[in-house]
Amino acid sequence: MIPFLDMKSVYAELKPELDAAYARVMESGWYVLGKEVEAFEAEYAAFCGTKHCIGVGNGLEALEIVLRAWNVGPGDEVIVPSNTYIATWLAVTAVGAKVVPVEPTLGGPNIDPERLAAAITPRTRAIMPVHLYGEPADMDSIMAIATRQGLKVIEDVAQAQGSKVRGRRAGALGQAGAHSFFPTKNIGAFGDGGAVTTDDPAVADRLRALRNYGSRVKYVNIERGFNSRLDEMQAAFLRVKLKHLDRWNEQRRAVAARYNDRLAGIPGLVLPRAPQWAEPVWHLYVVQTARRTELVQALDKAGIGSLIHYPIPPHLQQAYADLELPKGTFPLAENLAETVLSLPMGPHLKLEAIDQVADVVRRTLAAG
Ligand SMILES: *Cc1c(COP(=O)(O)O)cnc(C)c1O
Repeated sequence: MIPFLDMKSVYAELKPELDAAYARVMESGWYVLGKEVEAFEAEYAAFCGTKHCIGVGNGLEALEIVLRAWNVGPGDEVIVPSNTYIATWLAVTAVGAKVVPVEPTLGGPNIDPERLAAAITPRTRAIMPVHLYGEPADMDSIMAIATRQGLKVIEDVAQAQGSKVRGRRAGALGQAGAHSFFPTKNIGAFGDGGAVTTDDPAVADRLRALRNYGSRVKYVNIERGFNSRLDEMQAAFLRVKLKHLDRWNEQRRAVAARYNDRLAGIPGLVLPRAPQWAEPVWHLYVVQTARRTELVQALDKAGIGSLIHYPIPPHLQQAYADLELPKGTFPLAENLAETVLSLPMGPHLKLEAIDQVADVVRRTLAAG
């Protein structure tokens, strides 16, 4: 049996540190917005290379709260990828703004800067690139367009903590970065969590109020805010895990390299290929094949987990039926939805397991 993602090995590896963090928080008697959150925010900002980090409840709220802090709302347009997890779109529509979806580049999962430039209108306020599967979007091109047009850029870093573009970390490339610490992410909490990174002190200040009922001073509410706070326990766990993130991402890189080697030259199988300037962190290892159903069945039978990220693009979800974007509107995203398959990936995946997965893939696609 090879699970899609091995969640238990992290606890096994870090048990003494995590248990100590647990005890420290339990004994402190303080559980929301305290010393652990403050320390994690400082450490995570330093890791990303930003001046500020604001811990929030989850990744979706990190995206939404930034749009709120920028006063993006009804009448405004936000450019999003057509190929993404639905959370990216949900943040935009939650503030009452309009999503303007843009197709990915031909060879990759991420938003195409050329198409993005063509989608800008006088109502465009912000661009929300996603670093999907841990592969950074083309931020040099996106930032050049945004600067020229006076637009703000918020990176969706949920799948790409630690990734870099020419040595600079995701989350420090736009005006703000939204991070998720959902347990399966490259740095995950043991529950929900999220954060915003930014260099802008005024936005950071407003986000700190917005996440806490719009309040800076207890019981004084300067605006209508959220309750979206990272808690002390999750922050304490994240401080432990942050120390290992670069090493784990390194291990993911080794897994991807092994897959690339073992899966090379299989007819009908497209392997992921990151651009030269990108340093991906392999949140997922996503292959493409027209014979996906067959392959999933074969993997299943061999006891190997696989998942589809994502089977239905946001514009075809019932949740967005009112936007009236029928099948055929975004053919590249639709094609990806029909052909992508994520193979087991994680820092604790053994080389023998990778070889086993590759054997099944090769045997299945070589036959028939
Ligand atoms: C996980 C994820 C989110 C949302 O994060 P949550 O913490 O689950 O709210 C947003 N965008 C992308 C691309 C994600 O993968």
